[in-house]
Amino acid sequence: MSIQVSFGGDKRPEKKVVAVGIDLGTTNSLVAYVAADGQPHVIAGDEGPMVPSVIAFDANGQLESVGHPANRALLTHPERTIYSVKRMMGRSALEVVDELGILPFQVHTAKGSAAVRIEVAGQKLSPPELSAHVLRELKRRAEAHLGQPVEKAVVTVPAYFNDAQRQATKDAGRIAGLEVLRIVNEPTAAALAYGLDKKPEGKIVVYDLGGGTFDVSILAMHEGLTEVLATNGDTHLGGDDFDRLLVETVAAQLAQAGVPVAGDAALLQRLRKACIDLKIALSDAHQATVQLELSAGQRVELAFTRADLEALILPLVEKTLGPCRQALRDSGVKLAELDEVLLVGGSTRIPLVRRKVQELFGKVPRGDIDPDQVVALGAAVQADIMTTGRRDMLLLDVTPLSLGMETVGDVVVKIINRNSSIPASATEEFTTSVDNQTGVVVHILQGDRELVKDCRSLAKFVIPIEPMPAGLARVAVTFLIDANGILHVTAKDVRTGLEKTIEVKPTYGLTDDEVVRMLEDAFDHAEEDLNYRMFLDAKNEADQILEATRRALAGAAGGRLDADEREEIDGAIAGLIAAVRTEQSDPVRKAQRRLNDATWRLAELSFAAALNDAVHDPLLPDVLAQAPDPAAIKPDHHGNRLK
Ligand code: ADP
Ligand code: MG
Repeated sequence: MSIQVSFGGDKRPEKKVVAVGIDLGTTNSLVAYVAADGQPHVIAGDEGPMVPSVIAFDANGQLESVGHPANRALLTHPERTIYSVKRMMGRSALEVVDELGILPFQVHTAKGSAAVRIEVAGQKLSPPELSAHVLRELKRRAEAHLGQPVEKAVVTVPAYFNDAQRQATKDAGRIAGLEVLRIVNEPTAAALAYGLDKKPEGKIVVYDLGGGTFDVSILAMHEGLTEVLATNGDTHLGGDDFDRLLVETVAAQLAQAGVPVAGDAALLQRLRKACIDLKIALSDAHQATVQLELSAGQRVELAFTRADLEALILPLVEKTLGPCRQALRDSGVKLAELDEVLLVGGSTRIPLVRRKVQELFGKVPRGDIDPDQVVALGAAVQADIMTTGRRDMLLLDVTPLSLGMETVGDVVVKIINRNSSIPASATEEFTTSVDNQTGVVVHILQGDRELVKDCRSLAKFVIPIEPMPAGLARVAVTFLIDANGILHVTAKDVRTGLEKTIEVKPTYGLTDDEVVRMLEDAFDHAEEDLNYRMFLDAKNEADQILEATRRALAGAAGGRLDADEREEIDGAIAGLIAAVRTEQSDPVRKAQRRLNDATWRLAELSFAAALNDAVHDPLLPDVLAQAPDPAAIKPDHHGNRLK
């Protein structure tokens, strides 16, 4: 039962709750707050603490119900009832293709617009608008319980949510009349709920398998400081997928028995509900049966054993282990160093999941705080910290992909490495590649591959510089990622002090699949990339040497070479050009050396000619006597050059 207290309850002995914590889940949402006793509590409604993230509309398109009643509406009018909205938050049509097969409602994308719209009862609604109904329900529940208006909240999202998805979540809050103080990663919130600030030291894994998403995080804590060392996961893996497999299996069996399910939306929903009940029952029992009503008066009994279910979902459960291993590798934490493994999300009640997690980490995982509630409780703790100034905990997040800049030769120079704690800042100096450049291009890229074409372009701008010979200009580029994950880039002409700053959202529009793919690619191609990068470096150098040689040959010094020397140089030039075509660094380096050897006298002559010009001295032999270093006309290959 919720407690009703009138507004303006200034006689309440409890302190005023300024902000609540909200777990806005794919399947279930919850709201929690920190009470006067300093402990976080989930606020329950008449049907328990969970608000199913389901929204039902009436035939006129008016909101009918949210939560449990809406969950029941899935059985009576599924065509007007929406669930799994979180899977569509901040996503485009292309990104939700996988969902369309299983979600019975109509998903639209206006041409040219990235965000999806869901058609329900004659209107097209955006995912944030729909999520706002769930948030409003939670807000109302909290206000009724606390007896005061609730206008601020900390809302959690999966660690892998990109900027667009986080932004959409914030939008949903705004639509619901809630100021979202902070978006917190769900695993981080779970760690807070376990009160890690009270532990002096430790390394923990948070394994979160919910309805729609899977997250794994490796956290380190020391003296009240909680740091996310690494995160990984899959926003397309969870209990919904187990349900889908069960539905498909049973639907196939029914079809064989002459009962087609496809095309009958109401039956499909009843089947889905039956399969979820079956799955949940099998977490406790070794076998279970549920009734499914096919049509009025016609029922079938579905019987499954735990072994059947485990055989079915084993590949999906094992799919969570790869990200776990990767996160562990990224964190640099060894298995033996792990102090705790925390279980989060309803699907971690499945015995097979617990077994696999235990096998992998070599530790009995902890689930003593209700895995359904732990995230909301942690969000409440964070909300309390932020509004009461309790500063005994500091949350640090990490940036999921490296950030860098393009340099000449389409190569990326990393400035902030992936999994760096944020806020983070780093500066790198660059120079120019061509004489008298009046500006340099600052091209910001995200990704872990070596080449520009394999990374994601975030922003590109030009910073004006004072013209000067190639290699002499100095441009200092600073990357700063602030606490909200927003990247600020400043480029400064060190000599003139001219400066330009832009704000970049580092993960904007990047899908989680892209993030995962880019990371996998980086590992798969590490060696290949390195080789190619070495080649590109050699090629850039070769281009500059060829250019310098051609210039020297065309000048006065060129005319002073004898035929043999000229022939040798032409041969070496042809050799270098041919070597570049092999796309291998070794032959290029070898051909460079040959050209260097062939041009030493040309270099001498050129240098002499240049000196000669400078001093207007017609006595070339005298100048030649002061034998110059042939390297004097070689370009300086040190420093990163910008176009
Ligand atoms: P989310 O964070 O995605 O909203 P939850 O953490 O609430 O998800 O987990 C919901 C998922 O957990 C659903 O797929 C639900 O069917 C599943 N679930 C809940 N309880 C159990 C259980 N006892 N056994 C197996 N799965 C469960
Ligand atoms: Mg969850």
